[in-house]
Amino acid sequence: MSIETIIAFLDFLQPCSAKEIWLGFYGGEPLLAWPLIEKTVAHARKNRKNKFHFTLTTNGSLLKKEHILFLKENQFELVLSYDGLAQKSRDLGSITAVEATLQNLQKLYPKGYVVNSVFTPTTISMLTASISALIKQGQRRLQYALDLSVPWEDSALQILESELGRLAECCQESRRETGMMPVENFRDAGGKGIFACCAGRDRLALLPDDTVWGCYMFYDLLGYDPRHPDYAKYCFGKLPAFMRGRTRAKAVAAKYRDLRQDYFFTEKKELCSLCARLESCSVCPVVAALASTQLGVIPAWTCRVKALQARFKVRLAAVL
Ligand code: SF4
Ligand code: SF4
Repeated sequence: MSIETIIAFLDFLQPCSAKEIWLGFYGGEPLLAWPLIEKTVAHARKNRKNKFHFTLTTNGSLLKKEHILFLKENQFELVLSYDGLAQKSRDLGSITAVEATLQNLQKLYPKGYVVNSVFTPTTISMLTASISALIKQGQRRLQYALDLSVPWEDSALQILESELGRLAECCQESRRETGMMPVENFRDAGGKGIFACCAGRDRLALLPDDTVWGCYMFYDLLGYDPRHPDYAKYCFGKLPAFMRGRTRAKAVAAKYRDLRQDYFFTEKKELCSLCARLESCSVCPVVAALASTQLGVIPAWTCRVKALQARFKVRLAAVL
């Protein structure tokens, strides 16, 4: 992607932008394009009409001190993707660099980052040990996520249940010692309401092939195949066409507006709108579609995982 493309995109959106804008850098690995990040931030800083907040998601292996100081100066919210013990078991080579990055972040920008660890059915047994190792290292902002694009069988769900129980105990202990809940997933019981995917509503993504989408996740799902029938429904087109064609943009935005929890249903055709958990459940439609192959259709294991997570969150919120 060229800086001219990014500037054209930001300048085009400026007249209809909200006063506060979140500008996020995602990959692959965004640090591979570091000069582009610096130039984009410099351009955003010239805009006096909007307040910009910046986010960056990285695996941390290329994050050096000079990058951290730049991120701090520009008050970035940094997400460090690090799967802890699960990563150690599959990619020992990357660990030294990431551990050094974690130490630098602790020293130079302690409040500016969160460590996000993703677990799969294969690695879920490492959830508590992994998070508790990060807590012992002094990491204070942690998140965990589960990969719901792959099937969770009964055996994996049983492990998840016992791991969530152990994780809750570990978090309670840490909170007693430090006064802070280290795992952000547990910080509150969660508000109630009907979830709507914000892609294409108040969020847009510009991709390296100059196409515009409601969220970069849609490119992961559909970007590889322009002949897929959903491609035309959810892609706003290449940037020059997006800037010219308001009618088409409105039609695509209308498709995104249908992506809300009460319009979703499970593979067994059970409607989320009739589910007792509707107002506390939120499922990313793209993650669900990576497994079910259809947007709006949710695989059965997702409901079971969501139910377990909700139960532990409520239980933990009640004792804190
Ligand atoms: S638990 Fe399943 S059926 Fe219920 S709202 Fe969530 S995704 Fe829909
Ligand atoms: S729910 Fe998924 S697709 Fe929608 S905005 Fe969030 S991450 Fe993107």
